[in-house]
Amino acid sequence: MSNFQIAIDGPAGAGKSTIAKIAAKKLGYIYIDTGAMYRTVGLFFDRHGEWPDSHEKIKELVDKADISIDYENGEQVIFLNGENVSAQIRTQEAGASASKVSKLPEVREKMVEFQQKLAGTKNVIMDGRDIGTVVLPNAQLKIFLTADVSVRAKRRLLQLEEKGMSGDIAQIEEEIRARDTQDMTRSVSPLKQADDAILLDTSDKTIDEVVDIIVKLQKERI
Ligand code: C5P
Repeated sequence: MSNFQIAIDGPAGAGKSTIAKIAAKKLGYIYIDTGAMYRTVGLFFDRHGEWPDSHEKIKELVDKADISIDYENGEQVIFLNGENVSAQIRTQEAGASASKVSKLPEVREKMVEFQQKLAGTKNVIMDGRDIGTVVLPNAQLKIFLTADVSVRAKRRLLQLEEKGMSGDIAQIEEEIRARDTQDMTRSVSPLKQADDAILLDTSDKTIDEVVDIIVKLQKERI
């Protein structure tokens, strides 16, 4: 494998996408946000209304969701059947819907195939929940990014406020806990640290400090 793959996994609000995006820019790598894909499927299922109640119906619905990505000014933008839904998928509700659909094997199968195809033979940083364990098992660098739940809740609230949205800190923390539990206990590809991943607790670290650690690790491994 001549290309270099960096896999970043971890619980909600650990700073994965913020850090991966900056590190990708520094390294000249492509950043792939897989959470956005599950959020988009969640949005699609929510719009459909009635939750499909059999594997056949789930598969049928999943097949109708055409998801594609592009880059605008270095930012990943995501399309659902041609519609740019990048802003709409950033709410707490979309995160909860993503967690719900991400338990479905039919959804995961399609997303993993899409993500592996996107990574192809390029230098990539991909973040999510199953990147080091399932999507890119041969990644040369795997990071498991985490932080105290209270710190993660504060960061999420800040992110929402920056986008002009509001939120209640206690409720956000509760939602993060619920999502982590759901992600860690599902039977297909649960969130867990890969055996060969490096654990990085970001509770007391700045974004720049974490990015520097990742860039340094990449240099050591290349
Ligand atoms: O990372 P983000 O918060 O955008 O992810 C939203 C949800 O999508 C997660 O809580 C998880 O349920 C799901 N997800 C997943 N596998 C990934 C990425 C995200 O199951 N690789």
